[in-house]
Amino acid sequence: MSKQRRVKPMFSLTPVVFRDSPIAGRGVFARRAFAPGEVIVPYAPKQKKVHVRSAEATAAAETRLTLLSGDQVIVPDTGVPGGWLCNHSCDPNAALYASGEGRIQCARPIRPGEEVTIFYGWVSHNEPHRDPCRCGSPRCRGYINFDVSDDDAEHVEILDDGRLGMDEVLRRKIGDYVDYLRSIGQEQVKEAIANTLVRLKTRAPGSVVCAY
Ligand SMILES: [Zn+2]
Repeated sequence: MSKQRRVKPMFSLTPVVFRDSPIAGRGVFARRAFAPGEVIVPYAPKQKKVHVRSAEATAAAETRLTLLSGDQVIVPDTGVPGGWLCNHSCDPNAALYASGEGRIQCARPIRPGEEVTIFYGWVSHNEPHRDPCRCGSPRCRGYINFDVSDDDAEHVEILDDGRLGMDEVLRRKIGDYVDYLRSIGQEQVKEAIANTLVRLKTRAPGSVVCAY
């Protein structure tokens, strides 16, 4: 009796390959063409979900790989490659969606061999030069992060109806960035900026502000 033999596939049907990237570290590369709207790769093929208010979620946030999905936080198992390896680009060809298990979806046509990039949308606080960008796009803004400073917070007020009011100076600074966000379909980052400004404005003196 012969043992059952395992048949090794001749080639992989995986639509992406994970390898070194000229942008940073390992990246995600298309092995075939993708059309806008197509799912390219799951964010984290192996993952754990923890409650947003748990200590585990707070600790995992430091990796900057966690993804908020409702009141759950997706924590990728970094032993298994996935969309969490996507590099940032200031002119991304894909977008990250956090609903369900999280996925990377094509935003504009991608050619085989092209690196799949997303927009991180990081908002920093008083660290304008925190994350230099090497995306190489002609539209590169130089930094991955958009910085909100204590000085910026001086230019906002919380209106009676709870909305955020800002003066002309800040409106101009943020307006330029918001126009850019709109042009790449990433307007949701506005919320992170507004939330950071509100936190800066309403914090008790001396408290620590955590802004991602
Ligand atoms: Zn860039």
